[in-house]
Amino acid sequence: MKAACWHGRQDIHVEHVEDPKILNPRDAIIRITSTAICGSDLHLYNGFIPSMKKGDIIGHEFMGEVVETGTGVSNLRKGDRVVVPFPIACGHCEPCSRELYSLCENSNPNASMGEALWGYAPCGIFGYSHLMGGYPGGQAEYARVPFADVGPLKVPEELTDEQVLFLSDIFPTGFMAAEACGIRKGDVVAVWGCGPVGQFAIKSAYMLGAAKVIAIDRFPYRLRVAAEQGGAETINYEDVSVSEALREMTAGRGPDHCIDAVGLEGHAPGLKGAYDKAKTIMMLETDRPVALREAIMNCRSGGTISVAGVYGGFIDKFPMGAIVNRALTIKSGQTHVHRYMRPLLERIRSGEIDPSFIITHRLSLDQVSEGYSTFSGKEDECLKVVMTP
Ligand code: NAD
Ligand code: ZN
Ligand code: ZN
Repeated sequence: MKAACWHGRQDIHVEHVEDPKILNPRDAIIRITSTAICGSDLHLYNGFIPSMKKGDIIGHEFMGEVVETGTGVSNLRKGDRVVVPFPIACGHCEPCSRELYSLCENSNPNASMGEALWGYAPCGIFGYSHLMGGYPGGQAEYARVPFADVGPLKVPEELTDEQVLFLSDIFPTGFMAAEACGIRKGDVVAVWGCGPVGQFAIKSAYMLGAAKVIAIDRFPYRLRVAAEQGGAETINYEDVSVSEALREMTAGRGPDHCIDAVGLEGHAPGLKGAYDKAKTIMMLETDRPVALREAIMNCRSGGTISVAGVYGGFIDKFPMGAIVNRALTIKSGQTHVHRYMRPLLERIRSGEIDPSFIITHRLSLDQVSEGYSTFSGKEDECLKVVMTP
């Protein structure tokens, strides 16, 4: 089959590889009909996530048709159309039974790597390094889906791939980020980053009762989507001081909740940005937490910082003093996607939201290299790339 394979920094291209096979009774094989590139994939593309090997098949936002099931999968049949959640979860361990699917204790065969880096290991994730289990991903013609009896969600025929594909990751991710804020009626939520995750966080914050959402980025076309589709007020951090603008927009107190939808490749103009760039190059920190620091410093006292953006390792100048002395709460996590798929499918079905609004580029899997460079470079007003194998 054809698959997008990682070969090093900014080198991802399509190759012919072995077809996946059923390895365990609870596996299914999916023929992929749509697959997308995630902001998290950019951290692989740009070489920030350790333990990648040349030839690894990447991709974790995918859907398709069931073509084969193991003997332990009784809920799926050949021909079923399903969306696959990006975390691989057994459904039965202690964290899974508490619906903390991205913490599944049975899906990461390389747990010792996670323990060494983070204390305990997270779940396995499709196409997301050996640290996350070394599973082949879904930017391919076929994928093996472990624990297929609990992960894949059957989707109704009347909804198109483009409407349901993002249930695999970014819609639940934006939603969980907003939910973690504990929004009360009338609250103001600020969202750093107007990529796909930020856009879904904005929509979700309004769904959950926010009175006002303020979106922060530097790309006018992304801010435009946040305003026109999401109904957010916007701040371009290259034009104005974020702190001053936020104070003005919140009667001097700061937003009640701050969502970091940027993650470890944060950008900042001038000296502020140069500091983290230099430190990461010298290996004195692993991530560039510019948005996270700013979210903490600008949050209203007693408020919540919800971190959807992915961080990998160790950061510098983390304002712990602000957190303690202003009683801030930090919430985070790889998304427990399984928990959100059904309720969010209902919101799509009812017409409350059509997630396809973020798609700007439709490519074939053969164009994957172009997809990555365009999305990574924010070229051609790219917001989301969807590919068909
Ligand atoms: P993206 O790269 O398209 O979007 C990131 C946006 O942040 C860009 O528009 C960029 O201009 C903006 N940005 C950079 N520096 C900024 C700053 N200082 N202030 C404000 N905005 C800034 O990526 P995406 O697909 O939207 O993903 C965003 C993050 O969410 C990534 O880190 C990704 O790994 C993470 N993510 C997490 C989960 C999860 O389960 N927690 C799931 C999916 C994605
Ligand atoms: Zn993702
Ligand atoms: Zn589990």
